[in-house]
Amino acid sequence: MHGTVPTPADVPAGVYRQTWGPGAKFGFYPVRDATCWYCTVKASDPRFIDEPARKDAIRARVATYPPPIVSLIGAPSEHPITRAIIATHDLEKPWVHGRIGLLGDAAHALAPHLGQGAGQAMEDAVVLAECLRTNPDVIAALRE
Ligand SMILES: Cc1cc2nc3c(=O)[nH]c(=O)nc-3n(C[C@H](O)[C@H](O)[C@H](O)COP(=O)(O)OP(=O)(O)OC[C@H]3O[C@@H](n4cnc5c(N)ncnc54)[C@H](O)[C@@H]3O)c2cc1C
Repeated sequence: MHGTVPTPADVPAGVYRQTWGPGAKFGFYPVRDATCWYCTVKASDPRFIDEPARKDAIRARVATYPPPIVSLIGAPSEHPITRAIIATHDLEKPWVHGRIGLLGDAAHALAPHLGQGAGQAMEDAVVLAECLRTNPDVIAALRE
């Protein structure tokens, strides 16, 4: 779930904060004069599927979380609370078949709130480039 609201008074300026609690992870961060927030819940939970009911369901889920989380959810906004399904996976190796190799999210997609999927994709690219530089055989370099 993802929302954008005019920044409420109790939201600290310039802060990105993530709170992990029972049943949900909640994060918020500034974007210009607004604050974006997200809340992770189980995608199949019917309470979060219908757009009009989402707000109350999220508020109930994080009712015991520290401020300013409840006021962020309650803040009036012209934007709907959107729902995106996030899937993570960690494919079994090998991630290589002949001249085809998987890198980044294709091989090991992470949930976005961990904030490291792009970093890992770049690491993959750097290591692969080094293997290709030192190994003239593409298939062997990919396997390495
Ligand atoms: C909301 C959100 C927040 C995130 N925040 C962070 C963060 O703070 N820090 C961080 O490190 N990571 C973050 N990530 C994760 C990061 O974005 C991904 O891990 C990273 O983009 C993976 O890079 P990639 O090159 O493997 O895949 P992608 O970036 O998904 O690139 C794959 C590309 O392939 C293209 N493509 C797909 N199919 C085809 C096809 N058939 N033919 C041609 N092209 C095709 C796609 O259009 C896309 O451009 C976040 C992700 C999300 C969704």
